[in-house]
Amino acid sequence: MQGPMPDTIALALLGGLLGACVGSFLNVVIYRLPAGLSLVSPPSHCPACGHAIRWYDNVPILGWFLLRGRCRDCGVSISPRYAIVEAITALLAAALAVQGGFTLDTLAAFWFGASLVALTYIDLDHRLLPDRITLPGIVAGIAFAAVATATTGGGALGRSVAGVLLGGGMLWFVAWAYHAATGREGMGGGDIKLLAMIGAFLGWKGVLLTLLLASFVGSAVGTLLMIRDRSDSKLAIPFGPFLAIGALVTLFWGDRIVDWYMLASGLSGD
Ligand SMILES: [Zn+2]
Repeated sequence: MQGPMPDTIALALLGGLLGACVGSFLNVVIYRLPAGLSLVSPPSHCPACGHAIRWYDNVPILGWFLLRGRCRDCGVSISPRYAIVEAITALLAAALAVQGGFTLDTLAAFWFGASLVALTYIDLDHRLLPDRITLPGIVAGIAFAAVATATTGGGALGRSVAGVLLGGGMLWFVAWAYHAATGREGMGGGDIKLLAMIGAFLGWKGVLLTLLLASFVGSAVGTLLMIRDRSDSKLAIPFGPFLAIGALVTLFWGDRIVDWYMLASGLSGD
């Protein structure tokens, strides 16, 4: 075996670089969008002392290390989360670029993944999945699929629309049934729109697999937390991040998981 091809390395580097820059913008979205602040102005500044971040300290990922996690003006510590969000987004873009090259499909997948990163952190911070990310996501997912179907044929558009209807409809039904049975609000409307967005990008099969994986990971994490905290009180973790994890796993390995499942169930069936 030889090392990776030079093309692969170039795709990974260029993808990672672009991804890190988008990650930097996602930090702005995560911080400002729930607060109703403008995404473009003012430029990044220290939340403690208000000094503008110098351009050379604002380099994605590296900036945080250059500053050793502290504001250069007032010394207040800066959360490593900024660098973590940039690193996750860079890895996502690099992996997608290596997998598919710089194509429209890759751009669609990256839009989807970047939206999931922003939604995960906003949901953890505020228990909120803003319409300003999920609704444009639904439109974008259908639009990317429509372009794919128009240019290369195939059933991408049909799968996308079916995914939106199934994703939105399923959770809406669960929320309705829960409300009818208990008289309480269970699942948030944000989760419904998020699953509709996931359907727009991953299609109806992808939505089913995402929900399955999210429930599995969610109950595993929930059980671990209950054991750790020795309590059976209601969990305070939102469901959105688990849907995002399930969707990312489905984005990268969904086809293989479905194939494996079909094979396994076919073999055990008869
Ligand atoms: Zn400062």
